[in-house]
Amino acid sequence: MHIYPLTSTREVSKVVDVKQVNRTGQTVKAMEDIMKKVLKAVAAIVTLAMMAGAAGCASSAKDAFDKETTAAAETTAAAATTAAAADTTAAATTAGDVGTKDPTKLVMGTNAAFPPFEYVEGGAISGVDADLMAAIAAKLGLTLEISDMEFDSLPTALSNGQIDVIAAGYTVKPDREETMDFSDSYYTAAQTIIVLKDSKIATADDLKDKVIGVQTGTTGSWNAADYTAETNIKGFANGMLAVEALKNGQVDAVIIDNNPAKSYADENPDTLVLIENQFPAEDYALAVAKGNAVLLEKINTALAEMKADGSFDAIIAKYIK
Ligand code: GLN
Repeated sequence: MHIYPLTSTREVSKVVDVKQVNRTGQTVKAMEDIMKKVLKAVAAIVTLAMMAGAAGCASSAKDAFDKETTAAAETTAAAATTAAAADTTAAATTAGDVGTKDPTKLVMGTNAAFPPFEYVEGGAISGVDADLMAAIAAKLGLTLEISDMEFDSLPTALSNGQIDVIAAGYTVKPDREETMDFSDSYYTAAQTIIVLKDSKIATADDLKDKVIGVQTGTTGSWNAADYTAETNIKGFANGMLAVEALKNGQVDAVIIDNNPAKSYADENPDTLVLIENQFPAEDYALAVAKGNAVLLEKINTALAEMKADGSFDAIIAKYIK
């Protein structure tokens, strides 16, 4: 996994660790206070018991013991409650006004082999999603960090808090909505078939029983399953590898989103042909962890502002001709 800019995940987890230490530190401090109070109470009991013993009055010593023990127990309970309350407050503050794991950062997960939405150029990740998220992060007063990983690792990274948002030309799908929440849509796409120039495949129906290359975990792979057996579907870590397999004759066709398909075809004008308009439209949106209403609302507001003021269209115009 690559992190852009030059901030490593290790640094991110260090920040998280510090927070945990602080929170544990608060608890340790509270426990120390409790122990001090308990010791004080015990010392008082011992003193009282000695006094009572000296006075030959055992019952008052017992009363004093009971009283102090109750007081100590109450102090312990009260302190523990305070510690728990402090912990809850810390957790609520960590979730923060913005709903990101680190209140200073917005960590975006993506697979940067999906031009023009995300791709590596000059050691940095460029593309529609990178620019869009940079603008949203700026509106939220956060530093954008991009975490580049395999496409099918994104849902888990989101649910375990490794990333705050998926921005990856990511299609809204009911199956995905079970484990994550989607923002308003920002782009309409559709799957496209890529074949070699001399291929007999001309429509989606011609894909029947063919060997189809896809990017693992994508809507393209789900579409492929409508036409050919699971064993005929070859999954690759990214679209570029699927296209390489097509060029090497390992697969008969590739199914992938229309914009990356166009980018790959533009790079290989003599070998690749696109077959478009064979599949239904898909909506791209940003995904946050299920139930993260705070971040979702902030993202939707920022997105709406960008759509209204023309800055979103400017990003699209910059990357999609
Ligand atoms: N739109 C497709 C999906 O969401 C592919 C996205 C991608 O490969 N980055 O599955």
